Amino acid sequence: MSSNFLAETSRRRTFAIISHPDAGKTTLTEKLLLFSGAIQIAGSVKARKASRHATSDWMEIEKQRGISVASSVMQMSYRDHVVNLLDTPGHKDFSEDTYRVLTAVDSALMVIDAANGVEAQTRRLIEVCRQRDTPIITFVNKMDREVREPLDILDEIERELGMPCVPMTWPVGQGKAFGGIVNLRTQAMTVFESGSERRPQDFEAVPLTAPEALRERFGAEWDTAMESMELATGASPAWDREAFLAGRQTPVFFGSGVNNFGVMEVLDALVDLAPSPQPRSSTVLVNRQPVTREVRPEDEDFSGVVFKVQANMDANHRDRIAFVRMASGKYTPGMKLKVQRTAKELRPTSVVTFMSQRREAVDEAFAGDIIGFTTHGGVQLGDTITGGAALQFTGLPFFAPELFMTVILKNPLRTKQLQQGLAQLGEEGAIQVFKPDAGGAMLLGAVGQLQFEVVQHRLKTEYDADVRLEGCQYTGARWITAENPADLRAFTDAYPLRLAHDAADTLAYLCTSPYDVRLAQERFPKIHFHPLREHA
Ligand code: GDP
Repeated sequence: MSSNFLAETSRRRTFAIISHPDAGKTTLTEKLLLFSGAIQIAGSVKARKASRHATSDWMEIEKQRGISVASSVMQMSYRDHVVNLLDTPGHKDFSEDTYRVLTAVDSALMVIDAANGVEAQTRRLIEVCRQRDTPIITFVNKMDREVREPLDILDEIERELGMPCVPMTWPVGQGKAFGGIVNLRTQAMTVFESGSERRPQDFEAVPLTAPEALRERFGAEWDTAMESMELATGASPAWDREAFLAGRQTPVFFGSGVNNFGVMEVLDALVDLAPSPQPRSSTVLVNRQPVTREVRPEDEDFSGVVFKVQANMDANHRDRIAFVRMASGKYTPGMKLKVQRTAKELRPTSVVTFMSQRREAVDEAFAGDIIGFTTHGGVQLGDTITGGAALQFTGLPFFAPELFMTVILKNPLRTKQLQQGLAQLGEEGAIQVFKPDAGGAMLLGAVGQLQFEVVQHRLKTEYDADVRLEGCQYTGARWITAENPADLRAFTDAYPLRLAHDAADTLAYLCTSPYDVRLAQERFPKIHFHPLREHA
C-alpha cells in the first residue's frame, strides 16, 4: 500500500507561479497548460482578458480590473507526472492571499520581465519564499524585446534573492536580434522564431558541436553570447539540486512566453528539478500538551489543510468551495472526513479537482494535490481536515490588519444579508471582520486598501447588501491571549471599549496608535499581544 502511495506522491509537483503584474505570468501559465496538453487552444491573453474569460480569473471584479484577485488552481499531467499549478494574485493589496497560497506549494516559478528586472511585487513574494526556504525556478521572459543584458539581470536576481543563479539556458541576442537560447544541459541551441502558434517541436535545434556555422549565422550576437555565457557559468556555482531544494540556488531559464519559446524547458524543469510533495508540520496533543509531528506525504491517513475558501465562484450556486492542499493519504469519493476545529464530519456536496478551466469530480487524489470541497459552511481558512487523526497543521497565518473601516448598511432591512455576507467573506479571508464587544457597527480590517473595494462590491452583487464604508480611529489590532483566565479578565475589564471578536471568534484588542499596544503591554505584562494569528 504505502509503496503505491509513495509512487503516486513522488510523481506529483505542486508549485506557485509568482511575478510582478505584466511580467507575463498569465501568458506563461497558458503556455504551460497548452504544452502539457491540458488545454487545446491558447487564445491570446489580450483576447481572453477582453472577452473576460481568463483561464485563471474567476471573479467578476478581477475581470473588471484586469488583476488577479483570487488565486486559482490548475492541474495538468505531463511526462507521467501530475503537475499542480497555483496562481497567485499579483496585486500587493492581496498579499495575504498570496502568502497562504505559498504555504500550499513545494516550489515556486518566478517570472521576470527581462526589461524591468526584479520589480516591487516580486520582491515581496521572494521574501515570503525565502522565509519558508521554498525552492525557486526563475524564468526571464520577453527576450524578444529590447531588454537588459543577461549578466546584468542575473546579477540583480542574485542580489534580490540572496542566492546564486545557475543558468540552465542562455540567450543569444535579444529584441530584433534575438537568435535563440543555448541549452547548457543538452549543449544545443534552439533557434528563435516568433509566433504564438508554434509548437515546441517546431523550433530548430542545432548542436553546439559546429560553432562555426552558428557564428556565421548569428554574427556578433553569437560571440557576445558565448563570452557572457562563459562569464556567467564561470561565476556561478555548479548545479546542485540539494542546494536548490534548500532554497540556496535558483536555476534560470530565458525565453519568450508569448512566442512559446523557452517554455518547454521550464515545464521539463518542473518535472526534473522541482521537488515532489514535502512533509508538513502539524501539532498533536499528547497528554493535553501540543507536540510537533511531521506528516509525510506517503502516510496512509488522509490529511490536508484549507488554504483558501471562496464563495460563489459559480454565480448560480450559493455555495462555497474550500481548497485543500493534501498533505498525506489518498482521497476517494465518499470517504468520511472530519474538520478538526469543530470535530464535525465534513459533508461536502461535491469534491472537485481543477483540470485547467474545468472543475471535475475527483476519482482519487494524493498528497500534493489540491481538491475543492463544496460546502454550505462549517469550513474555515486554516482548518485541518483528516480521515480521523487529531492533528492541526501549523503555519497558515492571518496578519493583524493595518487599515480599518466601519460598515454602514444603506438599507437597514438587509441586516441579515449583510451578516451572512460578512461572515462568509470573513471566513474566506477576503477581509477580516471584527465585531466590537461593546456593540455598534461591524469593523472591517484589511492589509491592503483594495480589499475594501472588493468586499463592498461583493456584498452588493453577491449578497444584495449595499454598504457605505467609513473611516474610523483604529490603526491596528492584536490578538489577545493569557495563560491565566484571571489576568485576561482584568485586561478585558480595563478595556471594554477596545475589544472585538473576529470571524474565528478570537479576541482582539483594537488600537489607535502604536503606543497603545506598548502602554497596554506595560500595564498588563501577563497578556500576550499577537500580531499574527495562526489558525482558529
Ligand atoms: P501578467 O500580468 O504577469 O499575467 O502578464 P500577461 O501574461 O498578461 O502579459 C502582459 C503583457 O506582456 C501582455 O500584453 C503579453 O502579451 C505580453 N507578453 C507576455 N510575454 C511576452 C513575451 O515573451 N514577449 C513580449 N514581447 N510580450 C510578452
